[in-house]
Amino acid sequence: SATLYVVATPIGNVTDISLRALHVLTLVNAVACEDTRNTAHLMTRFGLNKPLIAAHQHNEREVAEVLIARLLAGERIALVSDAGTPAVSDPGARIVDAVRAAGLRVLPLPGASAAVTALSASGLVNDQFYFVGFLPAKAKQRDNMLQSLRTVSATMVFYEAPHRILDCAVALEAAFGPARQVVFARELTKMFEEIHRCPLSEAAAWIGADPHREKGEFVVLLEGATAAQDAEEAEAERILAILLGECS
Ligand code: SAM
Repeated sequence: SATLYVVATPIGNVTDISLRALHVLTLVNAVACEDTRNTAHLMTRFGLNKPLIAAHQHNEREVAEVLIARLLAGERIALVSDAGTPAVSDPGARIVDAVRAAGLRVLPLPGASAAVTALSASGLVNDQFYFVGFLPAKAKQRDNMLQSLRTVSATMVFYEAPHRILDCAVALEAAFGPARQVVFARELTKMFEEIHRCPLSEAAAWIGADPHREKGEFVVLLEGATAAQDAEEAEAERILAILLGECS
């Protein structure tokens, strides 16, 4: 009966699709997707053929109306994004919100998410994590945001575009200092997967060491602030204030 299925898809390795996702993609009337070409490719890979409805960040509201009308007529619709879990740093949240507000059923199908995949293999303490997602593209806004995260004690999770990864590493060191541990999870589930952990002081050099590293997709995980680091920083700032005082 009328249901919007929110279906996670693979983040690289197509065989990470779940059996349930394949089953649901077989039974739905249509698939709402971020990019029809991308989803057509995935569907073809599994011998599926369904009408595709483009639902991207610029038309989510209008598409929500279309989907609600179809659901009210009793249809089943799947919502997918290009990779991973819809609505997480991806379009979908507005559609889900509108469908729920219309009193219709929304069923999530769990699967790949780059953030959780990276966390699981990072070795950083994962009892608490803070999902930041994409940083602002403009340097000043990015740096302001990083400053506001300095005292977060949970492991922080960033998504970053390949052409900004080097800038990101430099900005992280400037904001959090050289000692914090960082994990770069690159090309997860793909042929050239790399998961590299180092202090921020070594991050830019690691990226620069291989020209391929400025390509490919990255999740960046940053160790949270520890009480010891906080105390050290406070002490350094106190000494700096004394020195500056003596200079004036
Ligand atoms: N909704 C997706 C999810 O839940 O994983 C995230 C989509 S977001 C538009 C794309 C970003 O996710 C990339 O810029 C990168 O930071 C991260 N990402 C996606 N696939 C990845 C992969 N295979 N390896 C590393 N990072 C990936």
